[in-house]
Amino acid sequence: MSDSLFRPKSVAVIGASSKELHIGNRVIKNLLDFGFKGSIYPVNPKADEIRGIKAYKSIMEVPEKDGIDVVHMVIPAKFVPAAVDDCGKKGVKNIIINSGGFKEIGPKGEAIEKDFLERAKKYGIRIFGPNCQGIINSDPDIRAYCNFTFTKPDPGHISITALSGGVAEVIHQAFSQMGVGTRIYASNGNACDITIPEIVRYLGDDEETRTIVLYVEGLRDAATFLEVAKEVAAKKPVLAMKAGRTEVGAKAASSHTGGLAEVDIATELIFKKAGILSFRDEAELCQAAVAFASQPIPKGNRVGIITNTGGPAVIATDVFGDKGLEIPSLSDRGIETLKEKVFPEAAVGNPTDLLATGLAEHYRTAMDVMMDEETIDSVFINFVTPFFVDTDAIAREIAEVSKQKRKPIVCNLMTDPQQWTETVRILKEGGVPCFGFPGEAARSLAALVRYNDIRSRDIGEVTIYDDVDKARAEAILEKARGREILSATEVYEILAAYKITVADWRMADNAQEAEKAAVEIGFPVVVKADAESIVHKSDMGGVAVNLADGDAVRSAAEEMEKRLNADDLKFFIQKYMPGGKEVIIGAKAEEGLGHLIMFGLGGIYVEVLKDVVFNLTPVTKYEAEEMLSSIKAAPLLKGVRGEKGVYEAGLVETLQRLSQLVTDLPAIQEMDLNPVIAYEDNVFVVDARIAI
Ligand code: ADP
Ligand code: MG
Repeated sequence: MSDSLFRPKSVAVIGASSKELHIGNRVIKNLLDFGFKGSIYPVNPKADEIRGIKAYKSIMEVPEKDGIDVVHMVIPAKFVPAAVDDCGKKGVKNIIINSGGFKEIGPKGEAIEKDFLERAKKYGIRIFGPNCQGIINSDPDIRAYCNFTFTKPDPGHISITALSGGVAEVIHQAFSQMGVGTRIYASNGNACDITIPEIVRYLGDDEETRTIVLYVEGLRDAATFLEVAKEVAAKKPVLAMKAGRTEVGAKAASSHTGGLAEVDIATELIFKKAGILSFRDEAELCQAAVAFASQPIPKGNRVGIITNTGGPAVIATDVFGDKGLEIPSLSDRGIETLKEKVFPEAAVGNPTDLLATGLAEHYRTAMDVMMDEETIDSVFINFVTPFFVDTDAIAREIAEVSKQKRKPIVCNLMTDPQQWTETVRILKEGGVPCFGFPGEAARSLAALVRYNDIRSRDIGEVTIYDDVDKARAEAILEKARGREILSATEVYEILAAYKITVADWRMADNAQEAEKAAVEIGFPVVVKADAESIVHKSDMGGVAVNLADGDAVRSAAEEMEKRLNADDLKFFIQKYMPGGKEVIIGAKAEEGLGHLIMFGLGGIYVEVLKDVVFNLTPVTKYEAEEMLSSIKAAPLLKGVRGEKGVYEAGLVETLQRLSQLVTDLPAIQEMDLNPVIAYEDNVFVVDARIAI
């Protein structure tokens, strides 16, 4: 995708209209109002001019010899394919199809979409949309408003992209209302050709874009997205939100645009893997973006607080506490400096309360102290505008320190913007991110800190275990082809090939053999029913634990034979593993992405607590360790109240080996190790299932 789309020199509108309320009119109005620097060509067979601009009967008549950079199409879907042909002959580079009536309406529309896309490809035309809003570029040299919406941005450094025009516009409005400029805006609807990853890559290369805001409901080509996002996120902050996280949300998403959402957790995991900062609330996302657009990234999580009123600082402190930020004490030197210069009644320290009567020079002193403190990484300012001090002077000091960009500053500005217009103007012009609630300001600062965390986290390289027998595992899968579920023998042999430690086991065809196997393993043992029809063995009485002798084994097996009556019934005899903690480790294939891998506490509460975490394979040691420590029950693994902890290194290795196993064997659709029993110095899989 070239500059011709985002930096067009000429824009034509096929379907330009004289009617005020028509998109074909609005786009021209928007281009004019926004001060587009290039040429505008309305195309309409009946009109001579539209909004005072000469109109052309057809695109062929437009006097641009070297082709036209952007054509808007605002005509009924059925006319689009032929119009695309005309554009091809004319040498058009990009077409923004605003019209709907394509894939989003069903098979009939989908066929038209396919038709015009083939024609466009033939001519090398790129299609933006269809069923979309378009693009905006606020670059003073371009001023392209190829879009029919209403937010007219000041030039800024935040760029926005989303399939959904509605959300993109909401986000755009939010920045506008916060008085923050934006750079490029791109909402591509059905995205039949130009994709979100392509746009993200372009924004990554656009120097004036400092922060990218992305909204998605699902990812079509997750692997490409991951690759591009990794590359771009390494260059600049990418802030993203994935909607349709809940079942009802996903349903809503799939019913509009060319959307494809289903409940997926993979998207947020992709964000994480790519180093994208993920949000679950659109307002929080926009507020954070404002801080990113003008502030440096903090080096750590320690905040200095300056305030001129008590309560709001307490609210902010709570948010910092929740988000894991610290509010360290100041050095003696810092305290001395403050005491010398601020009012004697002021509370000096962290927070420093300058009192409502605090003067501009007091703010300056406090900010300079915080900037100099080695133990402080960022500054939070609470600024209520009392009528009895020179608030403009205070604003000037804040703006000046903010411009130094030594450490990030956010400001909770408590004022009436209608009365304190100059104060507000000075802060905004100075690039100070101002918010109307202490919590909002604090969360934005916390987002900067979170970004520093994810960018400075080194997940290391994936461990490749070379003691595994991949060929053996592949041979087993090859033999099982056509079946859905592997037998216990197959499953345990695959685990053995990948050196995943399991409790000692034997297979037995009948009760007598079961007894013999138990003797070989050594008592106590467990007897489990194994048959294709039995999935949850214990639910059907197919698991008998802690059998102390041969008699117990035989009668357990005979009893199962009687009750379960499955023709293919066999017995799985296993060493009984008492004590220990049960955990679950699982993997699930994810279309086009490899596998999701899961870790959680097992046992009877797992269904209720749903305390599990996911990641994308392959996982590194660091990521596996992070999985262990991010379940809520993590302290239980470490041991509580004198109880011993479990062998976490063993679980981490099991996760990594499973990750390698499913990566090597993509035919595996689902795999559960449930439970894995973890002891102080080793771990054993006691139940495993593989679906292919
Ligand atoms: P399923 O999940 O099909 O019901 P499992 O093999 O997981 O069957 O057995 C059910 C439960 O029995 C396990 O969650 C575990 O608590 C216990 N269990 C199974 N095998 C053993 C074993 N070898 N040692 C100790 N407990 C076991
Ligand atoms: Mg089980």
